Amino acid sequence: MINLIRRMETGCEPFPEELAALLSDAAPAVHTTLFEAADRVREKNCGKAVHVRAIIEFSNVCRCECVYCGLHAKNANVVRYQMTEEEILEAAWDAVEAGYQTVILQSGEDLSYSRETVGRLVASIKRMGNVAVTLSLGERPFEDYAYWREYGADRYLIKHEISDETIYNRYHPHSSFAARLACQRELSRLGYELGGGFMTGLPGQTPLILANDLLLLKKMGVAMAGIGPYICHNETALRGNPDGDVNLTLRVVAAARLLLPRANLPSTTAVNVKGGLTNALNCGANVIMQKATPYKYRNLYDIYPGRDSKDIPLKEQYEALRAQLSALGRTIYENGDA
Ligand code: SF4
Repeated sequence: MINLIRRMETGCEPFPEELAALLSDAAPAVHTTLFEAADRVREKNCGKAVHVRAIIEFSNVCRCECVYCGLHAKNANVVRYQMTEEEILEAAWDAVEAGYQTVILQSGEDLSYSRETVGRLVASIKRMGNVAVTLSLGERPFEDYAYWREYGADRYLIKHEISDETIYNRYHPHSSFAARLACQRELSRLGYELGGGFMTGLPGQTPLILANDLLLLKKMGVAMAGIGPYICHNETALRGNPDGDVNLTLRVVAAARLLLPRANLPSTTAVNVKGGLTNALNCGANVIMQKATPYKYRNLYDIYPGRDSKDIPLKEQYEALRAQLSALGRTIYENGDA
């Protein structure tokens, strides 16, 4: 396995089977070697600076039925909310003022926010300064993606979640794996920086599927990849299943760094919930996403349990992160994300 890690560090793409074997290897020495290689590759290609991004979860209304997600359309126990345009812009301004250079607008698939509304939001946020706008709004008509790009949207996050087509289609009865990949292709064609990603530990995911998850990121040419552990939600069809393993997730993030040396790899909110932020930054991650959703809404964006909702002003949250990063020998990237 050590030889495989060395090969990957020099840019060789592994076969799916050997990557699966690497991810399954329980030997601590293999894990350490993998983490150290990923850290070297991150340092060489991305440096010490960490990109810090603010997520505004502006609506938890969703038409989809993802079987792992607490916000799925049929969950009648969710208290639904939809922020107004004014509230969204206020939250974005707070984030920009606090120092965040990327604002991520995220929601369930909520079609009540029209193409024009989202376009207006993007344009208004772009006018706030040297700020990048990332959208994470799910599957929408391709005309919407084109419209928002024209209004200045820089990036789009849309994960493939699991690369096994049969499992994907079973877990997403409202859509299909083919439709998801078609969205990713179209977003790249329109010039968005494409953000992909997947979960580790989804029920049914084998080591070979996990290896193919990683290789699919490369094939789709993602510029960013969010990789987080599955966290079980009791109000879903997958209730009772164990959570994904954080150490395995860190190994997968490290392998992603070797496969995608220059990509932006966040320590995802799901990793952070499981206490893995510091470790992820030592295993190849170079991005942190922090919530900038107004506190009264944070607990309601309940994709999975345990998400952070401490009432700390954004500026304070940003400065606390700066101190935390400094203790790790890292800095915040502040040269403009747009
Ligand atoms: S994962 Fe996203 S698209 Fe799926 S049900 Fe949850 S909020 Fe909706």
